[in-house]
Amino acid sequence: MENDLVRLQEIAEKLISSCYCPYSEFHVAAVIEDTNGKLHFGVNVENSSYGLAICAERSALFKAVSEGIRDFRRILVYSPDDLPIPCGACRQVLAEFCREDFQIVVVGPEETRTFTLVQLLPHRFKICP
Ligand code: ZN
Repeated sequence: MENDLVRLQEIAEKLISSCYCPYSEFHVAAVIEDTNGKLHFGVNVENSSYGLAICAERSALFKAVSEGIRDFRRILVYSPDDLPIPCGACRQVLAEFCREDFQIVVVGPEETRTFTLVQLLPHRFKICP
């Protein structure tokens, strides 16, 4: 069963208080929906060694993959601070598990934009064709 996008956004808004982003102060929460309609959540978690931070998108995806989930329908990425377009690392990691028509819904304080994975990463790196 597919969830209502409003529901995904409401969950993401509640998750914002769990963000750990004392360095960037850029709060981001992500809700990823698998093909069975189950929702998996994540927030950005920063570190004083900046390179060790993890984005909300990968946080949510890794939690789901750790539970054995491999098929995903879409992800909603939300920030009250600015439009949270996924970074290159997250695009590549999403491409490992998601089809090209996987939907990425990005919600900022002033606008919502929807992309497919192939729009954001048209030439993904793959070992196998
Ligand atoms: Zn990222």
